[in-house]
Amino acid sequence: MIKANNPSLKSWIPVPANSDFPIQNIPFGIVKPKGKAPRPATRVGDTVIDLSILSDNGFFDELEIDNYGVFYAPVLNDFIALGKPITNAVRQRLSDLFNTDNQELQTNKEVRKLALLSVDDVEMMMPVEVGDYTDFYSSIEHATNIGTMIRDPENALAPNWKHLPVGYHGRASSIVVSGTNIHRPKGQMKPAAANEPVFGPSRLFDFELEMAFITGKQTDLGESVSTENAEEYIFGLALFNDLSARDIQTWEYAPLGPFLGKNFGSVVSPWIVTIEALERFRVAGPVQKPKVLPYLQYNGKRNFNIQLEVLIQPEGGEETSVCNSNYKYLYWNIDQHLAHQTVNGCNINVGDMYASGTISGPTPDSYGSMMELSWRGTKPIQLNDGSERKFMNDNDTIIMRGHSEKEGVRIGFGEVVTKVLPATE
Ligand code: MN
Repeated sequence: MIKANNPSLKSWIPVPANSDFPIQNIPFGIVKPKGKAPRPATRVGDTVIDLSILSDNGFFDELEIDNYGVFYAPVLNDFIALGKPITNAVRQRLSDLFNTDNQELQTNKEVRKLALLSVDDVEMMMPVEVGDYTDFYSSIEHATNIGTMIRDPENALAPNWKHLPVGYHGRASSIVVSGTNIHRPKGQMKPAAANEPVFGPSRLFDFELEMAFITGKQTDLGESVSTENAEEYIFGLALFNDLSARDIQTWEYAPLGPFLGKNFGSVVSPWIVTIEALERFRVAGPVQKPKVLPYLQYNGKRNFNIQLEVLIQPEGGEETSVCNSNYKYLYWNIDQHLAHQTVNGCNINVGDMYASGTISGPTPDSYGSMMELSWRGTKPIQLNDGSERKFMNDNDTIIMRGHSEKEGVRIGFGEVVTKVLPATE
């Protein structure tokens, strides 16, 4: 077992009940304290720990890191690029420092005062600079639902779907951190009754409940990563809200796939939870029939049991939970994603993001988009204030949360929050 994952560990830093961030998590993110530059940090309970201050005071000296500049950088890319032997050692060192039995930081009042900050006193920043972004389509429930609505219920899945993880290359520039609000996009769409397209604000503004993994190791052009070695290349995971304009998407997508209906904003949660921290939550994925080609075959438990929730909060109103799903439903797992992405020799870089595609479950309350929840607008969802939604209204806030829980340990991702702003003039 990874020592930092031990369920019996306790921290001297307070951890509220049901916190996503016990001492067993130790995620990595970028925080901006008031009046200071962005810097790497971790989180325990509601306390953020500034890694630059710990580095200043020699707390990482024994790790013999080549480049201590990584603890002062405005993104985690160079830290992640140090490689798992180092980043896992940093996670372990932090676990030791936060442990009730360890006095080094606990009794050092001066450093504690500088390094420990309330989450309320920092701004969360983009954790990585995203070079490339891929969005997969790996929930069989989602693909079946969408195929039933827009293709043909008899042939909901395209012929390739069970043979390869379908995906497309998305836009990295518009991936933003939780708390960034997104304007309703404008674009071309063709209403069903019209003969010609029209231009205007999207009427079918949707979310997609997804998770993304972040790569931590680059490959050279021509190189492929096997499913067996894939996790060496995966640093960690985050929640991902892939905002979508269904009307723009429907009109534009043939024949080259998603474009402007998808690239006006995708929102990621600020803390990257390492794949090591998720170790105890591994579960077997769905049985894949027909058998997949050898380069996509894998051994062991490669899915993760992560409970996911989507909530909608109207302006000034309360949150309504509209979806409860689970990451474990994914038909294609992340190791298969990376093996498929690289099988042709496509190179990958540190800080790339690979999103899962909408994570829908088997029941209508587990569908991960409004397109499915309202069944293309035919079954409106009722919110707690009595109002109805087919898709998102202006000034609605979309909240996604996710966590795993087992044997009294809860490892969570916090949340990804974004508000729908009206279209620009
Ligand atoms: Mn998507």
